[in-house]
Formats: sequence, structure tokens, C-alpha cells
Amino acid sequence: MKPFAWWDPATGDDAARMLKDKPGAQAIGGGVDLLGEMKEGIRAPAHLVNLRSVPGLDRVEKTARGWRIGATAILADLAAHAGLARDLPGLAEAAASVATPQIRNQGTVGGNLAQRPRCWYYRSAEFGCAKKGGTGCPAEDGENRALAIFGGGPCHIVHPSDLAPILVALDARLFLRGPDGGRDLPIADFYELPSKNILCEFTLRPGEFIEAVEVPTALPRSVWVKLRERDSFDFALAGCAIAAEVVENRCRNVRVVLGGVAPVPWRVEGAEAVLLKSALTDAAGTAAKAAAAGAKPMSQNAHKVPLIEAVVARAIRRLAGE
Ligand SMILES: Cc1cc2nc3c(=O)[nH]c(=O)nc-3n(C[C@H](O)[C@H](O)[C@H](O)COP(=O)(O)OP(=O)(O)OC[C@H]3O[C@@H](n4cnc5c(N)ncnc54)[C@H](O)[C@@H]3O)c2cc1C
Repeated sequence: MKPFAWWDPATGDDAARMLKDKPGAQAIGGGVDLLGEMKEGIRAPAHLVNLRSVPGLDRVEKTARGWRIGATAILADLAAHAGLARDLPGLAEAAASVATPQIRNQGTVGGNLAQRPRCWYYRSAEFGCAKKGGTGCPAEDGENRALAIFGGGPCHIVHPSDLAPILVALDARLFLRGPDGGRDLPIADFYELPSKNILCEFTLRPGEFIEAVEVPTALPRSVWVKLRERDSFDFALAGCAIAAEVVENRCRNVRVVLGGVAPVPWRVEGAEAVLLKSALTDAAGTAAKAAAAGAKPMSQNAHKVPLIEAVVARAIRRLAGE
């Protein structure tokens, strides 16, 4: 690993200033992802700005608008939070489905949302690719069984976070802090497809970092279902987040978002349309087909199409209380 300087800012403003002014500075939460990349030689930031030293950034609190979750709150605390489990059950489930207990004890919400992709070619210093500033995508003619079947090209990564799809489904807002103050945006707008920005999966201006995520409670029923190769711990091969307002077996308002199948959390409005016009207990099969429509598998990942159908159907049945 290359040498780097470590900074412990005392306030959010200090952190933003350090991130902007120190050349090659990078924010660090729990370090689960970033230190791995540094050890693999994929990234070599000269300065690490430790967000966990900023007091209060780990707060999880109920507000007039819903729940505000600070960026350095750890995943284990979200998974075990009784208030979140009651008001936002899909979010608590998603936090509990991340990785292992050790990683959930170390990983932060901000780090989970801004973690980098897990494509083998991106993660290996032995391969160049467009995402690392090189050219082309070795996965197109190579190992692509875990990669995208929606929204891919010219890079085919899948979005790795389990929190992001459910937060998009719940219509959460991200609060970003920067050297010129703060701004907030719908979390769906934070993420960008590789066709728009191949070098990074999200939009942060110089010096900006995630300060908090605010989650409304307007969609009181929510679920996260995840299929993975190894059930003890693994990233999603396909995941389905649904958040809904359900009245007498009918969805009045619903958002369905897939994880693990596209470079960003992938909203499937076709499935939502089916859910809005059918009785919830009858909708699983048709909505699942609608969710998988338009998939464009690569040479090795057509198995993700039936996985999507299965995971969406399971999520709908869970939402219906079956
Ligand atoms: C074996 C293994 C299995 C895993 N399985 C899963 C899984 O099933 N589901 C899943 O969702 N994840 C999984 N992960 C990923 C893991 O959850 C993330 O690595 C972890 O959540 C990152 O959090 P962190 O605080 O350690 O981030 P860090 O490593 O500190 O940071 C990650 C990235 O985010 C940036 N960053 C950190 N905080 C902020 C912030 N507040 N604002 C802006 N940028 C920020 C950093 O600069 C860095 O680029 C797995 C990881 C491993 C190693």
C-alpha cells in the first residue's frame, strides 16, 4: 500500500475543506471498501479524511419528515433499530442482508452507498478497463455472469449496495455537505449510468460528501428480498425492493426497484403499473414478468432473467403478507 496522510476533522465543514484542498483526498467511513481497493493497488489517495471523527454524523433520529440517518451510522445499528424495523421494515432488512456481522459492525451507511463496483476486472490491478481510465470492457468477451442485464454499456458493472435499492423505493433524499454549504437530492439522482459517467457511479462535487439520508415514512409497507450465490454472505445476484401504501389488498402507491442487475438501482415502472391495477395477492406472476421485460443479457448471464422473476414474485408475496 502507498503511504497516505490521515486526517480527523472536528466538524463537517473541516471535512469538506480538507476533501477539497488536499490533493487526491478521499473520504473514509469504516474503510471496508476503500482500504481493500488501496491494498489491491486500484486506488492510492494521498490523504484520507476520516468522517467518523465528525461528532453527530452517526445519529439516527426520527424527524417531522421521517427518519434521518447520519452517514457514519453503522449498518449493524440500522439492522437492529426497533424504530426503523417498525416504520421502514425493508430498510432494516436490507441492512441486515449486507455481508457479514463483522462488516456490518464496521461499514457505514455513507460508505455502503458510495462503495465502488465489484466487477472482477475493475477490482484486479492486472486488467485495464474504461472505468479505470483505460479503454474497453474486458467483460464483454470475458467473465460476465454476475454483471448487468439492464442499462449496461460501455461498462457493465452492477450496483453493489443493498441499501440503495430500498432507499430509492422509499423515495429517500440524500443530504450532501460541501465547501460551499449543503444540498439535497433524491437518492435516485445521485447514481449515474456508465453511458453518462464511466469513471464514477455517482455525482459528488469537489469536497462533497454524504452527510445523511432522509427517509419518508409515506410508504409504510416495504420489503427487500435478495438472491445470492452463497446465502451466508454475498452480494445480490438479483434483489428486489418494494415500498408501497396498501389499502385492502390494493397498492395505492408503489415503487419497485431492482438491485444487482444494472449499474444503478433499477426502477421497474412496468411492474409498478401491474401492481397499481391488480389485487396484490393476484399480481405476483404478471408483475414479475413485467419487471424482467427488456433485459439484455450478456453471453453468460441469461440466468439473471428467471432470478429477477423469482425475486420480484417473492417480494410481492411478502408485501401481501403471504
Ligand atoms: C466480503 C464482503 C462482502 C460484502 N457484501 C456486501 C453485501 O452483501 N451487500 C452490500 O451492500 N455490501 C456488501 N459489501 C460492501 C460493504 O458493505 C461496504 O464495503 C461497506 O458498507 C462500506 O462501508 P465503509 O464505511 O467501510 O466504506 P469505506 O470503505 O470507508 O468507503 C467506501 C467508499 O465510499 C466513500 N465514502 C465513504 N463514506 C462516504 C461519505 N459519507 N460520503 C461520500 N463518500 C463516502 C469512500 O471514499 C470510498 O470510496 C461487502 C464487502 C465485503 C468485503
